[in-house]
Amino acid sequence: MDKKSETKFLVVKHECGNEQHVYDSVKTVVKCTMCGKPIAKPTGGLAEIIGKVVKTE
Ligand SMILES: [Zn+2]
Repeated sequence: MDKKSETKFLVVKHECGNEQHVYDSVKTVVKCTMCGKPIAKPTGGLAEIIGKVVKTE
């Protein structure tokens, strides 16, 4: 797969302590793999991140 420069991976630290890779633009709600709560929500542009972005790749 080609990587497009405008799409980045974020490492998000969720409220439960889980760190998860999330795209910076998502089309559906992304749930935390540990607690099952939303970790990123689509907004039509950049994702709304629920948690703290600890790293951008
Ligand atoms: Zn979580």
